[in-house]
Amino acid sequence: MAAVCTRSFLGRVLPPLPAAMLRRYSLDVSAPLLRTQAYVGGRWVSAASVFPVLDPATGQELARVSDCGPAEAKQAVEAAHRAGRSWSRDTAKERSVLLRRWFDLMIQHKDDLARLITFECGKPLRESLGEVLYSASFLEWFSEEARRTYGDIVPSPAKDRKIFLLKQPVGVASIITPWNFPSAMITRKVGAALAAGCTVVVKPAEDTPLSALALAELAQQAGIPPGVFNVVPCSREKTPSVGQVLCCDPLVAKISFTGSTATGKVLLKLAADTVKRVSMELGGHAPFIVFDSADVDRAVAGAMASKFRNSGQTCVCSNRFLVQSGVYDRFMEKLGGAMDAELRIGHGSEPQTTQGPLINSRAADKVVHQISDAVSRGATVLKGGRRLEGSYMEPTLLADVTTDMLCTREESFGPLLPVIRFNTEEEALAIANSSNVGLAGYVFTQDVSQIWRVTEALEVGIVGVNEGLLSTAEATFGGVKQSGLGREGSKYGIEEYQEVKYMCLGGLQV
Ligand code: ADP
Repeated sequence: MAAVCTRSFLGRVLPPLPAAMLRRYSLDVSAPLLRTQAYVGGRWVSAASVFPVLDPATGQELARVSDCGPAEAKQAVEAAHRAGRSWSRDTAKERSVLLRRWFDLMIQHKDDLARLITFECGKPLRESLGEVLYSASFLEWFSEEARRTYGDIVPSPAKDRKIFLLKQPVGVASIITPWNFPSAMITRKVGAALAAGCTVVVKPAEDTPLSALALAELAQQAGIPPGVFNVVPCSREKTPSVGQVLCCDPLVAKISFTGSTATGKVLLKLAADTVKRVSMELGGHAPFIVFDSADVDRAVAGAMASKFRNSGQTCVCSNRFLVQSGVYDRFMEKLGGAMDAELRIGHGSEPQTTQGPLINSRAADKVVHQISDAVSRGATVLKGGRRLEGSYMEPTLLADVTTDMLCTREESFGPLLPVIRFNTEEEALAIANSSNVGLAGYVFTQDVSQIWRVTEALEVGIVGVNEGLLSTAEATFGGVKQSGLGREGSKYGIEEYQEVKYMCLGGLQV
């Protein structure tokens, strides 16, 4: 790890960053993509006030964005409702063509879109570019799926009746998204919604509205009709009142949310009053299990990819590492070597950076607290362990971890890799399933029977077998237990935005 630090995190004073990391960085994105007003009914509109968007790496202000309130949210919902009348009746092929055009524009502007992500959310440019391609892939995928949302004709029990099951759009969808994937979390929902014939109001995270507004600019250029895609950015202070409109307005039929389990529960309660459809992609606490038969090099590569992407700030991030006794020492040695060789802290726009800052200092405080708790209960810090100035956090490897430690009981959302040693498959599964959430899980073994047994037994929605990176538009994304409701991506993602209507055609003389 490259950062030069002078003091341990256990001392109170934070180590300084190397001088090179404190220089000023310029966002430098071409003008049409740097939008700061809300996008409502196909027009760019200002709110009464603005809120600042900061570079989490430096604290520098990047832009001032319209701070929408309930009035703008209501206007957006009404615009979406009006636009839905014709959008839902357009042919699937017409919607498909527009989604495809939007995808093409994202690809054309991928470098600018990636810079926006890096500057507002902190992730390294290479990862931001990866996110743009991943994000665009949902528009491409759902432009194709739009034309294949078949209903059913079901054999009827009566000779004079026919049974048809029609797929119809649910209506206006409120889309509430987090900061860790400022672009992809929007398209994963919006691609499916628009393909189904729904219209949307997007409320991006307060930290990362610029990527959402750039998507609106490209939607406009693509010819997506006014009111079909609306974006209402707002500050943390305005979020509850905007959320109230988006989750309670009678014109809204559906809420799709990605974020913390705590906020998801708040939104579920709001949705209950008017019985709205909901999709919830909530927190995870992924186990990463390495069995004795594993290819250790592959397991180490999987651990690096799964843990340190976006500095550990993904909901499918491995959070608890369970390593069987027979390979424990070899795994730890190789993992430590890989961390030294591959991880570089810095501003996301520097080409060598692999570890950007955490989104804010609260996020870094949480990781530091988990490390102190683990150390006080007997864990050993093998790598890192220190918080740096700003919200940078050293990638940290903890050994001698036990299940009573905070880091094995709650999501870290940071570059903390705690390792628990285990002896039997039953023991590993008991630890892995002892969580009240279940999004992703990872298993490394060469034993085919064990692969099948463990995959079936893991209480999660996504399993990576000998793989650390899994997400793709073609497959489902979603969890069990308190990790959420519903699935995104894949052929199932579109169903979250459809109702099935049963039509009985009677009185036939046959
Ligand atoms: P974090 O704690 O990392 O900010 P959240 O789950 O709170 O994660 O945030 C995810 C998204 O949910 C953000 O867009 C945030 O603004 C939004 N959000 C948080 N609280 C509410 C609320 N009461 N109503 C609507 N949206 C909310």
